[in-house]
Amino acid sequence: MTAAPGQRFTGADHVVAEDSTQQDLRALFGHSVAVFASLAGPSHLLETANPAFFAALGEQEPRTGVHLAELIPGADGHGVITVLDRVYRTGVPHTGRDIPVVLGTGAHAREAFFDFTYEPLRDAEGAVAGVRMIGVETTQVKHAQRLIAEQRALLEQIARQAPLADVLDGMARCIEDLAPEQVLVSVLLADPDGLHLRHGAAPSLPEFYNQAIDGIATGEGVGSCGTAAHRRQPVIVTDIGTDPFWDDFRELADRAGLAACWSTPILARDGALLGTFAMYHRSPRVPDEGDLALARIFADTASLAIERHHIEQAKAEAEAHAEAARAELAQALQAEHELRAAAEQRATAAAELTAQVRAAAAVQAATPHPEHCQIGGPGGCTAPAEIKIADSWGDSAWGCPDHVEEAILHVGSVFIANEDLGGLAAYRHR
Ligand SMILES: [Zn+2]
Repeated sequence: MTAAPGQRFTGADHVVAEDSTQQDLRALFGHSVAVFASLAGPSHLLETANPAFFAALGEQEPRTGVHLAELIPGADGHGVITVLDRVYRTGVPHTGRDIPVVLGTGAHAREAFFDFTYEPLRDAEGAVAGVRMIGVETTQVKHAQRLIAEQRALLEQIARQAPLADVLDGMARCIEDLAPEQVLVSVLLADPDGLHLRHGAAPSLPEFYNQAIDGIATGEGVGSCGTAAHRRQPVIVTDIGTDPFWDDFRELADRAGLAACWSTPILARDGALLGTFAMYHRSPRVPDEGDLALARIFADTASLAIERHHIEQAKAEAEAHAEAARAELAQALQAEHELRAAAEQRATAAAELTAQVRAAAAVQAATPHPEHCQIGGPGGCTAPAEIKIADSWGDSAWGCPDHVEEAILHVGSVFIANEDLGGLAAYRHR
């Protein structure tokens, strides 16, 4: 098979976004096969059948005029013949649901499930002349039902705000379980600038591979995922061995046993790149419409999970910011409160000092003292001396109330002397 490098399967049905999931689900259902055949007489001679009937039996050419038992040998045929015999004998229709049938032969054999209906065919007199056999394949329906159930479980997980890594991991395992052939799923997450891809989830890819891919740049020709992220379009590489997009990663992929990689970009509702969703295969493979639909459905689910995660992250950051702002405001209020308390304390202390100075002046009025203030600085003070102060070294002086207050406030060791205890004695007993 020769595919163009990174061949893009945009699908024949590029439709408006709102209906795309429904379309994808229909694509998954759309592979169902309907078979029918008309059988005549008690030995079930094949009169007519549709091409799907012969294809299902692995017949290259339509073969009519043969007994059904010859076309379906073995145990399968045995069960079918028993039912046909009964419908032919009794004229009562028979319906069987989800009957397992092996379709095709050899390497092309696959197990499928069918709903079968066997109806009696009657002649002009009303006697049973044969049986009409109608089979509708239910394999894809069962598959799609499982897929929808798995997807719903993932959506519930997303709604419950389960950790992103858990959701993506669960999604990868679910697809690996659902796929009829072996597939290995990888989800890469885009950096906010959209220029690099980080490991998201890849539970079945080897660790060395995940580590090597972690942090790859987005860009044309950077494997399937780097290119899909860059183009914002699915990139289907059907054969890693020959695709030039894999020139730089071919050896790595070979070591990991990977032969095909289909990558779908995960986009936000506004079109921003969130990451890539990739399905790897062990042998070269071209996707069918069902595979592409599956990829789109899960790229959409991943988009929901990642967007939800981003919203939660932004919310947590905003809350942290608000918390920091609240703490800062509380600190500012506390500082203001302390400043105001300190100012009030100083005002109270000053008022107390003034009262003390006045009281001392009243007490010391009768004591002999110099006429003028002695502590007015170099220019001198002409105000009357009223209060005696002292310091811890035993010096003492008389001053006016203003200068006494100033001296007490600015020189720590100064205090008001009294008649009994002047100088150091007062200091000692303080
Ligand atoms: Zn003075």
